[in-house]
Amino acid sequence: MQYQAPLGDIKFVLFDVLGGNRLHELEKYSEATPDLISAILEEAGKLTAEVLQPCNKAGDQQGCRYEPETHSVTTPDGFKEAYRQFTEAGWASLDAPVEFGGQGLPHTLKLIVDEMVCSANLSFGMYPGLTHGAISAVYAHGSQELQQTYLPKLVSGEWTGTMCLTEPQCGTDLGMIRTRATPRADGSYELEGTKIWITGGEHDLVDNIVHLVLAKLPGAPDSTKGISLFIVPKVLPDSGERNPVYCGGLEHKMGIKGSATAVLNFEKARGWLVGEPNDGMRAMFTMMNEARLMVGMQGLGVAEMAYQESLAFALERLQGRSLSGPKNADGPADPIIVHPDVRRMLMRQKVLNEGMRALALYIGTRLDLSVAHPDEEVREAADDMVQLLTPVVKAFLTDEGFNNANLGLQVLGGSGFTTDWPLEQLVRDGRIPRIYEGTNGIQAMDLVGRKLALKGGRLIGRLFEEFRAYLDGNPGAPHHAGLAEAVQALEEATTWIATQGMQDPEEAGAAATPYLRLTALTVIAWLWSRMAAEAQRQLDAGEGNTPLLQAKRVGASYYFDKILPEISSLLTDIRSGKASMMALEDSQWLV
Ligand SMILES: Cc1cc2nc3c(=O)[nH]c(=O)nc-3n(C[C@H](O)[C@H](O)[C@H](O)COP(=O)(O)OP(=O)(O)OC[C@H]3O[C@@H](n4cnc5c(N)ncnc54)[C@H](O)[C@@H]3O)c2cc1C
Repeated sequence: MQYQAPLGDIKFVLFDVLGGNRLHELEKYSEATPDLISAILEEAGKLTAEVLQPCNKAGDQQGCRYEPETHSVTTPDGFKEAYRQFTEAGWASLDAPVEFGGQGLPHTLKLIVDEMVCSANLSFGMYPGLTHGAISAVYAHGSQELQQTYLPKLVSGEWTGTMCLTEPQCGTDLGMIRTRATPRADGSYELEGTKIWITGGEHDLVDNIVHLVLAKLPGAPDSTKGISLFIVPKVLPDSGERNPVYCGGLEHKMGIKGSATAVLNFEKARGWLVGEPNDGMRAMFTMMNEARLMVGMQGLGVAEMAYQESLAFALERLQGRSLSGPKNADGPADPIIVHPDVRRMLMRQKVLNEGMRALALYIGTRLDLSVAHPDEEVREAADDMVQLLTPVVKAFLTDEGFNNANLGLQVLGGSGFTTDWPLEQLVRDGRIPRIYEGTNGIQAMDLVGRKLALKGGRLIGRLFEEFRAYLDGNPGAPHHAGLAEAVQALEEATTWIATQGMQDPEEAGAAATPYLRLTALTVIAWLWSRMAAEAQRQLDAGEGNTPLLQAKRVGASYYFDKILPEISSLLTDIRSGKASMMALEDSQWLV
């Protein structure tokens, strides 16, 4: 089926619940009126359905092809043309800086477009996605000269970017990087080493690829404190010479086969330092934090497409009769959507997807406030939320995005397992976002080990203030009691981690993943209550789109009845501590 961008839901959440209709009041975003945002979203919906989705299956079936003699990579049929249309229409530069040719629109808009792109064609989305991260890193940390040389062409999409961290011996533990950078007399560097699994490391969409590479300078400390960031173009911009960084092969993957995942060999390739020596991790984090939000949108995008496919199937497929009497009496059977168990799967997909979208757009709007609001306190408060909840968006949206795609496949029964239907591809494609950009386990460690303690606990304290202000200020809010219970569970879990984790870091490590889930479920409960309240207000006032508003009220009830109760098992899990998890001796694992 053709992808249908969920514009009704997006506009309701963004404009009516999260205040996105006022983004244009910020000087930086004065053009971003609701009318302009709506027009852009409608165009994005068309582009993703009409240009990106049609080459998604070819991407999976053909994959990318590597030519060893020329070290070149050919993308699947349709990708090159789709990329041309995507960049020419300015989709790669939506929120990029105006001074380098970007449109300077709100980041929220870019996040929404990310979701749409990834619903239609996740593999395709990787190419502009990584480029966007490269732009941010160079913009935030590069010298003026580097910015002038690289940003205009990265922003226009004429060149693409990569992020080169991983090496055969190190993925999560980047302190073990072996790629070396040796200074040259002219102020540039020579890079030697091998990077693996580099997204967009080589391809035929553009003539030049700009690699952002982590490497070590001579004598640098043997830890993450000794890592520097370099910019290493495939083709040297001044001379047009080929820089000796070559693709040594492509990964054979379970999914996202249209995305080229390359081995890159740096054979004394010329590079330039970005930021300060030994400060590469900080610069790379600019790229990674942004990429983490984008990867969260990949999870949601896949889940939304799976939902649309499984809903269409459930409305058509005739099997069995409704337990409350035939609903399609003239036909041989009823459509499977009449069965409670099928509804369970569809409702869970719908309600979680809408909740995850609300969470993502909440963070998107905070990101915009954090850079554009005139009041420093507002900027700081918004930035605290972005920092705290970025790992939550990345991990929860990709975990539940994958789980929802899997549920969608189940709705199709055996058809879902065949390649005649797109569900199996969605499940395979939707698996990787849980792993890259820092595995979801590492996101949980970031939340518990770093973000909770940051600024003396100010970030999480602010989240609780938001919850309390809402609960105290809206005693009649929908599902008030359920939300209050969730907030209390999160407070208890936070106190538990603060006390136990302080004495024994392994306790914090053991609690990290359930704590991240508990945080996500609680924030989404707050957002569902707000969505239901706004829906009720509009229904009472006779405004808005009635089916959407009624479905929002039902969706909130489903969330509080069927999904949120997981918090009590998460709290029990957290409080039970590490004991049974850490007790086995080596000899006891395989007995
Ligand atoms: C398709 C694809 C595209 C990719 N694109 C890029 C790219 O563009 N650029 C790039 O640099 N890399 C890229 N990667 C690499 C990716 O980021 C890494 O695979 C990921 O960071 C995990 O590293 P690893 O695979 O080495 O796993 P490991 O680090 O070996 O981890 C294995 C397991 O141990 C866990 N673990 C490790 N350390 C800890 C710890 N301290 N505490 C708790 N748990 C821990 C992990 O969570 C994981 O479950 C890509 C990978 C794939 C598959």
